[in-house]
Amino acid sequence: MLDIRMIRIRAQEVQEAARRKGLNFDVTHLLKADERRRELLMQVETLRAKRNKRSDIITQMLRKGRTEDAEKEKLAASEGMAHLKQVEAELRAVDGEFETLMFDVPNFISPDTPIGLSDRDNVEVRRYGEVAAFPFEAKSHVELGDSLGIVDLQRGVKIGGSRHYVLRNNGLLLHRAVQQLALDLLAAKGYDLLDVPILVKEETLHATGFFPSNRDQTFAVNGGERWLAGTAEVPLVSLYSGEIVDVTEPLLLGAVSPCFRSEVGSAGRDVHGLYRVHQFSKVEQVVICRADEELSEQLLQNMVKHSEELLQLLELPYRVVAVCSGDMSQKNYKQYDIETWMPSRADYGETHSASNVLDFQARRSRIRYRDEEGQLQFVHTLNNTMVASPRILIPLLENHQQEDGSVYIPAALRPYMRGMDLLS
Ligand code: AMP
Repeated sequence: MLDIRMIRIRAQEVQEAARRKGLNFDVTHLLKADERRRELLMQVETLRAKRNKRSDIITQMLRKGRTEDAEKEKLAASEGMAHLKQVEAELRAVDGEFETLMFDVPNFISPDTPIGLSDRDNVEVRRYGEVAAFPFEAKSHVELGDSLGIVDLQRGVKIGGSRHYVLRNNGLLLHRAVQQLALDLLAAKGYDLLDVPILVKEETLHATGFFPSNRDQTFAVNGGERWLAGTAEVPLVSLYSGEIVDVTEPLLLGAVSPCFRSEVGSAGRDVHGLYRVHQFSKVEQVVICRADEELSEQLLQNMVKHSEELLQLLELPYRVVAVCSGDMSQKNYKQYDIETWMPSRADYGETHSASNVLDFQARRSRIRYRDEEGQLQFVHTLNNTMVASPRILIPLLENHQQEDGSVYIPAALRPYMRGMDLLS
């Protein structure tokens, strides 16, 4: 959510942000509702003042025994009340419309964000590692998972329907190993690590900017009594909703959680294998800091570095891309993705996503702090994937496969893999 005073001043820029993000949003519609709401608010105040004045006059008349005059005033007062009620009802309706439109306002876009409408317009920032050229016929993660007996897609689909999987023995161990390594790295960097609810209230999703825009991506439970969050970003940002926090030092939060995605809109895409599933696990980073754009930009860079460090420990080739306007969600101001080399796709595939939303979530969630002058300000919030599994198992299995069908385990994972250096 943006500040309406800011929207009034920078209306053109808001409209341009919507256009560049490919969103259907009309700022003039919002500004009209805003103007009407302010007019009605003034009318209501004037009518309420008149009503109060009239009520004083009637009391005085009655006190002085001027019963007839008081009766006339009462008649006028009841007409005034009817008018007030009608204007109040109109105000409630316009307020509702205004609030709905405010939830649709896109965040601004950082000046260094590439402009474009699809991920083809994302811009590579840097690359790490050599892409392997196998001197043998390389297998896909699906084939490797099957031959090693660690991924059972058929039974996953039997149990949960399409986009489900079962991990077995060393598959489960590897899945847990990457997550534990990610958590340990975050702990070493001073992050607070949490276990958080992932079954959340509807208002929590509104407050973090996932609703209304992402509603169809989210699974409802009990007809919408609760919702299954698609990421621990939701509970981590909400941890301090409605609170005044101390951000003298940025708050560094990490969590591991299951994530649920309906993946509507991805029909037919990546149906086979571990790339796009309905349920996965993710170690997420969230940072909450002062509303200082230079600071939050620096923290965004740091978060990306944390994920890169993990990928380097996993000995995987990757690239960092600056995400273009049309590939960013409504709430994002600036975004980087990390794409890791996936031999079966003969391409880099997205494994991480980092974004700075400035105060967009904080305004909705009402997370504030006191600045040096004692004034209340909304914080900036940022988020990034530390690791998401089983998607990360794709590059791990495929890049580290050996000619005999075994898979090399990077040294950093071995302490979490009972010392194993090879899956066979
Ligand atoms: P997001 O929260 O959408 O930015 O996604 C963060 C990361 O979660 C992605 O970069 C992927 O690694 C992973 N991810 C997202 N959606 C899925 C999915 N449907 N299946 C598997 N992994 C996913």
